[in-house]
Amino acid sequence: METIRDFIQKEPFFETHNHQYGYSAHDWSSINYREFREYAAIDMMVAAGVEGFDCLSDEKFFQLWQFVRTTGYGQAVELGVKKLFNLDYTLENIALINQKLHEFVANRTNAEIYAEIFSLANITGCVNDIVPIADLSITLRMNHEEFPDFFRFAVRLEELQVVDNPKEIHDIEAQLNCSITSLSDLERAVEKLIDRGNSAGNVRALKIGLAYRRSLDFDVPTLADAEKAFSNLMSGKKGSLKPLHDHLFHHYMRCALERNLVVQIHTGYLNGTYSDIRQGNPERLIPIFMQYPKLKFDLFHAGWPWSELLGAIGKHFPNVWIDMCWAWTMNPIQMERILDEWLSAVPNNKILAYGSDTLSLFPVIGYAQQARNGIANTLEKKISRGEYSKQTAQFVVSRIMHENAWELYE
Ligand SMILES: [Zn+2]
Repeated sequence: METIRDFIQKEPFFETHNHQYGYSAHDWSSINYREFREYAAIDMMVAAGVEGFDCLSDEKFFQLWQFVRTTGYGQAVELGVKKLFNLDYTLENIALINQKLHEFVANRTNAEIYAEIFSLANITGCVNDIVPIADLSITLRMNHEEFPDFFRFAVRLEELQVVDNPKEIHDIEAQLNCSITSLSDLERAVEKLIDRGNSAGNVRALKIGLAYRRSLDFDVPTLADAEKAFSNLMSGKKGSLKPLHDHLFHHYMRCALERNLVVQIHTGYLNGTYSDIRQGNPERLIPIFMQYPKLKFDLFHAGWPWSELLGAIGKHFPNVWIDMCWAWTMNPIQMERILDEWLSAVPNNKILAYGSDTLSLFPVIGYAQQARNGIANTLEKKISRGEYSKQTAQFVVSRIMHENAWELYE
């Protein structure tokens, strides 16, 4: 008889968030076992207390690995290598892993490599966020010549939302071949950038990654204050730019509303080291959900470590979806508990279970497997406690793994 774990293994993911660069971005000639580490490299920096890992010898790499293979990031690497090549991620296996990687890429076109990786990860839908978006040549790649047909895209313009140097404005003028001398010119430029990104019609979301640059407290400045901040910026006068940045945030919300795009917001933990991780606190966004009841918000990364608060927000606001992208690998054990709790409080059509959220392609396999394992552990608990029948568990799994995301991002 098929168990709920078997069912979850076969059920596809629609991932709400990834960072792939497209077929033409890859040169696989020097691919090696380090291709898999992705986020685990950050845990290695923390473990070692220093940066600069590309010059680590293989021996030093695996000396550090023993401290990192026990975290979610490390476990995903080992799961991925096991699933792809049936090999353990060890110093002894380096030559074999490298050889298998070269064989894997040598026999396929880049489009076939993408297809095979996503098929092994059983992912059949994706909202892709190509960073950094200020470079227009990247927005122009949001199409199916560069990506599988099931890819959708998010436009990301946060450089512009925290603009603090006239040079950045002049760069946009040059790229768009327009003149920006007023706040309303800048607003038009933002609209042009969004529409140019969406020229192939594949954009479904605007992304807000601002937590990496500022806290998420957006005031509602007067137009006069925003215009004054803009002219201070352009003339090099001193003065707070917050009224300008907050105004641009609200303009971005209006753009999403007019184009029927979902607003994806980074909440919670920040990738990297030595960042002010308080900036991702989602509590400060509550006035925004109240102000824009007709906008659809997708809140990322389970808001970890504010995941309980995110559950309350998902329960309270009909316009908010709560999303576990990246979160399974940051803290898989806590995510099992959070999914268990969220499901007992939040309507199951408001929970989005997965996004690989990786700049590299090969790690997608391990991250997807790790999330499936966590979802299976959680749903098995629901069944063993007598809380869910198997039928209910299957219904919930299909909703959170792909149906909810397809409805939101079709
Ligand atoms: Zn991301």
